[in-house]
Amino acid sequence: MSSYTTVRINPALPKRPRSSVLVIYTGGTLGMVYDTQTSQLLPFDFEQVLDKVPEIRRLDFEITLLTLREIIDSSNMKPPVWVELVRIIERSYQQYDSFVILHGTDTMAYTASALSYMLVNLSKPVILTGAQLPIGVARTDARENFITALEIAAAQQDGLPIVPEVCIYFNSLLLRGNRAKKQESVQFNAFKSENYPHLAIAGVSIDYNYPFIRPCRPGQPLDIHTVLDTNVTILKLFPGITPQVVNSVLGIHGLKGVVLETYGAGNAPTDSWFLDALKEAIDRGIVIFNVSQCEGGRVTQGRYQTSKLLQQIGVVSGADITLEAAITKLMVLLGRIADPALLREELALSLCGEMSE
Ligand code: ASP
Repeated sequence: MSSYTTVRINPALPKRPRSSVLVIYTGGTLGMVYDTQTSQLLPFDFEQVLDKVPEIRRLDFEITLLTLREIIDSSNMKPPVWVELVRIIERSYQQYDSFVILHGTDTMAYTASALSYMLVNLSKPVILTGAQLPIGVARTDARENFITALEIAAAQQDGLPIVPEVCIYFNSLLLRGNRAKKQESVQFNAFKSENYPHLAIAGVSIDYNYPFIRPCRPGQPLDIHTVLDTNVTILKLFPGITPQVVNSVLGIHGLKGVVLETYGAGNAPTDSWFLDALKEAIDRGIVIFNVSQCEGGRVTQGRYQTSKLLQQIGVVSGADITLEAAITKLMVLLGRIADPALLREELALSLCGEMSE
């Protein structure tokens, strides 16, 4: 970790603070400033973020800040940065009790989903947060999001972390990371989790929704997946979609996996040209994952004839998974499983709470 900038925030704490948190700063609106010349939001030095939130020095746990070498707007997020984050967490896993990742909101749900699959046997909190307004703005939501994310990361019961999973904390709600979705670009309630209850709600106190939090399994050593295969795509259906569109997507050279965004409970057209194109792709070894365009509810292949045919040709049901969790799951599984039949079996399972079985 020596090549990263790390800063101890509150070195005046007693020798044994109640917890230690590593904050990893990746960029996003939270740490941006307005450039008056270009009228654009641009990333700025993380050290200045600290000047804007002096309150965090008063928290009674140890906080260390690490800034990635390249600070990005999260629209520039890419799998190599996920690998970098996972390696940082692995290298510092023994040293810290928990992790907070400061991240832009645009792709935060993708990052949270990817990390949930890449950090196998995770038994410590990894909390992502960000903001809709830069931290230097008077009405910013950054301060509350950041401070409460730190509190949640440090929270323990009987010596164990309360939330030992990858989560997003935003605007009073703690959500399972691979269930979250960005829903709003203007109001402060940027994230929602349509198909899984929130894990905590922060008001005067932070109330944890214990039955829905994954239990802590501290005995198992952390394992990491660092190979992701990006030979994947998303094919969204719409009335009038043409054979040319479907065939050119499925004909992409090297394509290995497709998230098929279907209607309602996982339904798709029954035109023979469409089903033949999917079947031919599946026969060539391409794995197709059925995710609904409806954010609430679930894919139930076989409920209607229009989805039964998909099931018959070997399309895998995504149940109630989000698009973000589905595409990242494909990348991670393709990175470690070459055989399409095995891949289809794994895809149908919930790896870390991303879908209801
Ligand atoms: N474009 C920004 C980002 O995702 C938006 C944000 O942080 O809210 O990095």
